[in-house]
Amino acid sequence: MKITRQKHAKKHLGFFRNNFGVREPYQILLDGTFCQAALRGRIQLREQLPRYLMAETQLCTTRCVLKELETLGKDLYGAKLIAQKCQVRNCPHFKNAVSGSECLLSMVEDGNPHHYFLATQDQNLSMKVKKKPGIPLMFIIQNTIVLDKPSPKAIAFVRAVESGQLVSAHEKQSIKQLKEEQGLVRDLEQRRRKRRKVSGPNPLSCLKKKKKTQDMNSSASEKKRKRKRIRNRSTSKVLSEKQNAEG
Ligand SMILES: [Zn+2]
Repeated sequence: MKITRQKHAKKHLGFFRNNFGVREPYQILLDGTFCQAALRGRIQLREQLPRYLMAETQLCTTRCVLKELETLGKDLYGAKLIAQKCQVRNCPHFKNAVSGSECLLSMVEDGNPHHYFLATQDQNLSMKVKKKPGIPLMFIIQNTIVLDKPSPKAIAFVRAVESGQLVSAHEKQSIKQLKEEQGLVRDLEQRRRKRRKVSGPNPLSCLKKKKKTQDMNSSASEKKRKRKRIRNRSTSKVLSEKQNAEG
């Protein structure tokens, strides 16, 4: 049983890795309901999640989820303890906390750029997550962790990309990387620089040279003036000495 579960998980993970750029360590955002289900099922998430996904995992949550668990009181004390041991990821609600589900949904907005997994027992949240492609969804059924199969939305999205109707964010990134690796971006920049060099310098540099020679002349004349002044002073000194001697 366990081997088939892992096989399915491996297949689904392959789908998300190939099409949405999901990479290890897998970052799994937990909500209160998932923590509570893990507690009831006596599931040690820290041990079982990496074993099930056959990879390094990071358990994460948000401050809004923690706050919500605090307000729900004693019944969810155990779930709160589990959530408190997770890494707290920054959410945009640092001033006014929102509900856990609203917060987690905001964490995977705009194509899930941080490649989060979402682990929840909240059916309402799951439905919303399935409507967006590229978010691996996890839940607990009969005391076992399950990575959900890719949603129809995710599969449709990938088909659209494959048929050339769409370019996924992951693909855009890899296209950019390829260009950089093959030096295409650098070539463009160099061409731009070369053009500037050809059109730019000649008339300007001529002007600057003229100015420089003028500056040289003026500074030289200043020096002459200074010398004259010094002579004047010395002559005046001599004169005053003469006057003193006479007086
Ligand atoms: Zn939040």
